[in-house]
Amino acid sequence: MTTATTVIRNASWIIGWDEDNSKHIYMQDGDVAFAGDRILQVGSRFEGEATNEIDGRDRLVSPGFVNIHSHPLSEPMNKGILDELGSPRLYMSSLYEFMPLFRPDLEGMQACTEVALSELLQSGVTTLVDMSVAYDGWLDLLGRSGLRAVATPMYRSARWYTKNGHVVEYEWDDAAGKKAMDEALATIDAADKHPSGRLSGMIAPSQIDTCTPELIRDSVAVARERDIPFQIHAAQSIVEFHEITRRHGKTPVEWLDDLGVLAPGSIIGHGIFLNDHPWVHWPQARDFDRLRESGVAVAHCPTVFQRRGITMRTVGRYIRSGIPIGIGTDTYPHNMIEEMRHALINSRVISGDPYDLRTHHIFDAATVGGAKILGRDDIGRLAPGLKADLFLADLRHPAMRPVREPLRSLIYVAGERAIRDVFVDGRHVVAEGKALAFDLEDAQDRLEAAQRRAEEQFKSLDFAGRTHDQASPFAYGLSTR
Ligand SMILES: [Zn+2]
Repeated sequence: MTTATTVIRNASWIIGWDEDNSKHIYMQDGDVAFAGDRILQVGSRFEGEATNEIDGRDRLVSPGFVNIHSHPLSEPMNKGILDELGSPRLYMSSLYEFMPLFRPDLEGMQACTEVALSELLQSGVTTLVDMSVAYDGWLDLLGRSGLRAVATPMYRSARWYTKNGHVVEYEWDDAAGKKAMDEALATIDAADKHPSGRLSGMIAPSQIDTCTPELIRDSVAVARERDIPFQIHAAQSIVEFHEITRRHGKTPVEWLDDLGVLAPGSIIGHGIFLNDHPWVHWPQARDFDRLRESGVAVAHCPTVFQRRGITMRTVGRYIRSGIPIGIGTDTYPHNMIEEMRHALINSRVISGDPYDLRTHHIFDAATVGGAKILGRDDIGRLAPGLKADLFLADLRHPAMRPVREPLRSLIYVAGERAIRDVFVDGRHVVAEGKALAFDLEDAQDRLEAAQRRAEEQFKSLDFAGRTHDQASPFAYGLSTR
């Protein structure tokens, strides 16, 4: 059997790779060819035999995005409830008071995942770090999606809760944390062996404040031993900053340093509340320098934080100082391009400077930057011999026109609307803007039903016995006429 060869003929714009300068480069009016899972040629005329030919006129050909932080199993549920909900007595994070109350059941998780994976594919994501608590059928859904997926089963030693809306408490169970870690390692083994060949694993104790020091140290050791990436949520809220300083007399970043986390191969989600963040008033530490000197990476997911009035200060500063930054979609919408746009805007608003963060910085973070953080040199850019993970955007889409600068049209205006086709491993996974693996409308119906079920149980879980619409009131009252 011969390998099918596809050529995208006469692409108007291509984001190729400049090997000499190790950066993306624009090319115009050339071909992109791939056979099996590998790229054969980028730019100029492909003279080889092609089994499939795609008309590239009026198309931008781009490397697919590498998304290093997401929670597909739960986040689609939160649309309509968390959009503008903070906890006024917990520094406006909704992590502690509200997020544990609005959760999907197993059917809901499956529906959430199908919706999130479809949306991610449709926004040009080809590699996804999926941080879920493992559930039946998870790896098969990832395999089915066609994505290159890093299964990242989360585990922890404690859950957080509040009895009054102003103090966060932790219910500890060390043994359960250790057991969950063992199960996560087994899940990672299963991902490595998955018949799709596109799954791998990442070690992820959930959060700095919910895991014992031993669990985090053991996790780092296993990640290093297996040479796979590691990720932990840290420096993500004021509550957590205070909790870690109260427990250890150290900032979250200093505590991560003690635990051996700060090193290449580790990722901090989300690394916002460093000691120099103006809200924490903790001048006698050097968190930013520790990040910069250590090689640890940060997963930047601005959308979920900006809703609560929170942002990194600034992602431009982190990137320019050499801290490896990757982009993730921590929440809905599972739209990588919108996330990139928010990163750019937040950085400029906080710095007051449109030069604080430029389009190329964030496109690099979402492609080669994320790839490098995951330890991969075969994705995130288009060059012969690398994986055929790419997307085509329609330059004739009204939101893209006039096309003077295709990436700016895409990121600042069109977003996912212009993306027509996506390929992973050379396999066509999005056609005509639709993810082929799932029936999105059917998944949305199941998600809708799961959200109604979650609404019903909300009151029984809330410390104050509120209903979901008392906790997160609608924008307008509901007429009873
Ligand atoms: Zn997260």
